Amino acid sequence: MTDCIFCKIINRELPASIIHEDDHVIAFMDIQPVNPGHILVVPKVHKELIAEVDEDLTSRMFKIAAKINRAIRKSNIHSEGINYFLADGEAAGQEVFHTHLHIFPRFRNDGFGLRFSENYTQLPQREELDEICVTIKESME
Ligand code: AMP
Ligand code: ZN
Repeated sequence: MTDCIFCKIINRELPASIIHEDDHVIAFMDIQPVNPGHILVVPKVHKELIAEVDEDLTSRMFKIAAKINRAIRKSNIHSEGINYFLADGEAAGQEVFHTHLHIFPRFRNDGFGLRFSENYTQLPQREELDEICVTIKESME
């Protein structure tokens, strides 16, 4: 895709600090890290959503993420925990529409966090969970 930032990185039309590359997956440092060590794992094929990526390639992405996870823990990069994050769609916070998996170090008081709605603390009834469960399950292939 010609105007996609990540395709441009893959095609070496934009600079990037590349930590991993193979025929199918590239991983590079996020230009605006949540914390030092923030890395993006990106399939080379241009797909907007992770659901459009085939299972083998999704597995490859997670394999690379696992390698990076272990490397961060082994390195001297400050990390007390690690987050994986994937924004799948604009409403989910996606800003670059070439799917990618974030992986970044976390530590206490690092300032990052998720915000919840006001009624988050009110747990749904089991019946409601079951109903939603069945609805989604019926659509599973
Ligand atoms: P998302 O909101 O999940 O789509 O995240 C997009 C991520 O891409 C953000 O964390 C950006 O900082 C990162 N990003 C945008 N442009 C570049 C770039 N040229 N090189 C590396 N990371 C980038
Ligand atoms: Zn792309």
